[in-house]
Amino acid sequence: MSDCIFCKIINGEIPSAKVYEDEEVYAFLDISQVTKGHTLLIPKTHKKNIFEFSPEEASRLFQRVPIIAQALKAAYNPDGLNILNNNGETAGQTVFHYHIHLIPRYGRQDGFH
Ligand code: 5GP
Ligand code: ZN
Repeated sequence: MSDCIFCKIINGEIPSAKVYEDEEVYAFLDISQVTKGHTLLIPKTHKKNIFEFSPEEASRLFQRVPIIAQALKAAYNPDGLNILNNNGETAGQTVFHYHIHLIPRYGRQDGFH
């Protein structure tokens, strides 16, 4: 999609800090770090939200979650990690290219609630 900021990030038209990449997915640091290492995992194929996925497509994307979670653990050594995803404007989605947030946690005082 030509007007999608995450498609532009995949194409390199908008710079990003890469965390992980393979033939199907891209992961990069969120521009607004709610905690250190806050990462977004996206499919390279444009899909708006979970309502556009087949179970097979969702499964393939989620296979990368532990890979990225473990890379973040190795890089930042958080105590924990939140994995979350907003689908639709009323659910808080602001960028309409599907993405999974991986948010490292550093204890109660890390500023994210
Ligand atoms: P949502 O609210 O849709 O679940 O999350 C969208 C996320 O995309 C937000 O956390 C926001 O900070 C992030 N974001 C928006 N624009 C950009 C950008 O141009 N670069 C990066 N790295 N993150 C972005
Ligand atoms: Zn897109």
